[in-house]
Amino acid sequence: MPIEFIRDDITRLHVDAIVNAANSTLLGGGGVDGAIHAAAGPKLLEECRKLGGCETGEAKATKGYKLHCKYVIHTVGPVWTGGKRGEKALLESCYKNSLLLAKSLGCETVAFPLISSGVYGYPKEEALSVAVDTVKSFLDVCDMTVYIVIFDKASFRIGEKLVRDIKEYIDDRYADEHFNARAEHMRPFKANRHDFADYAAPKEVKAAPPPSFASLKDAVSQLDESFSEMLLRKIDEEGMTDVECYKKANIDRKLFSKIRSDRLYKPSKQTAIAFAIALRLSLDETKELLMKAGFALSHSSRFDIIIEYFIVHGNYNIFEINEALFEFDQCLLGA
Ligand code: ADP
Repeated sequence: MPIEFIRDDITRLHVDAIVNAANSTLLGGGGVDGAIHAAAGPKLLEECRKLGGCETGEAKATKGYKLHCKYVIHTVGPVWTGGKRGEKALLESCYKNSLLLAKSLGCETVAFPLISSGVYGYPKEEALSVAVDTVKSFLDVCDMTVYIVIFDKASFRIGEKLVRDIKEYIDDRYADEHFNARAEHMRPFKANRHDFADYAAPKEVKAAPPPSFASLKDAVSQLDESFSEMLLRKIDEEGMTDVECYKKANIDRKLFSKIRSDRLYKPSKQTAIAFAIALRLSLDETKELLMKAGFALSHSSRFDIIIEYFIVHGNYNIFEINEALFEFDQCLLGA
């Protein structure tokens, strides 16, 4: 099951459990902890008092009270002191222990804030990558939907250089598009001025003969390979299993079985691209797969250009792509 990134206030989410970046007393604090206690009401603090605190890297659960979740899982992140005091391992434990606890409580949907990345000072980019890597490893062996909640955009800083490169790539493509549109626009104007010198006489273009079908029924019966068929063929050609493919695509198992069992299934554009990324398709193959689902990649959309950028650069890391899409305020890939 997928990881999803959302930019929101964690206290507003309707999930089975939300995770609290608490302090070791579990008696409330500032930041996300304060927001969770304020939204849950005083009964949360009453229950927390009975828990006897919590060690760094460990997790304890309470009910959700007035929140829209059954449970709050309180975990205590490490305070960042430069990275040499086991902060990373402790932060990984926070995610692992919270997920194991959520699993033991029967939770199917869990939302995390970026633990330790506020007052505790863990660098946001690194905190995010620990969150993604740890959750991803857990999801490789366990079915659950995990939301990583990004409260402020600064938390979601993909490398400055990558942002600059993508911006440049978008600008170049937009500029081309713009230039072509302008050239189109100028053409009738030139013609009105009877300035035909620039224009060669149009070549006679012979259209290819239309395919001959005996009847409409005949035409409709001669369908090309469908999206679902191409996807399954590519999975086989890549020597992947179905599970490997949908996990890599960050796609949920149920959606994959729907696609698998319906040869004419039409996925969303994001889903189709997520599969192209999981299968490491070339740009041409990606376009072919998209076409089969009724979509294209164009230079009139930032989303499309960002996808193209990653494929052209051979970077098929769906989480990095999603971070970039997030940075540029675009829809994310996957379910
Ligand atoms: P810590 O002490 O573990 O650093 P903080 O609460 O100070 O915990 O911050 C952890 C992360 O939670 C920060 O990235 C902060 O921006 C984010 N955060 C703060 N309030 C909320 C909220 N209401 N919902 C989601 N995330 C939040």
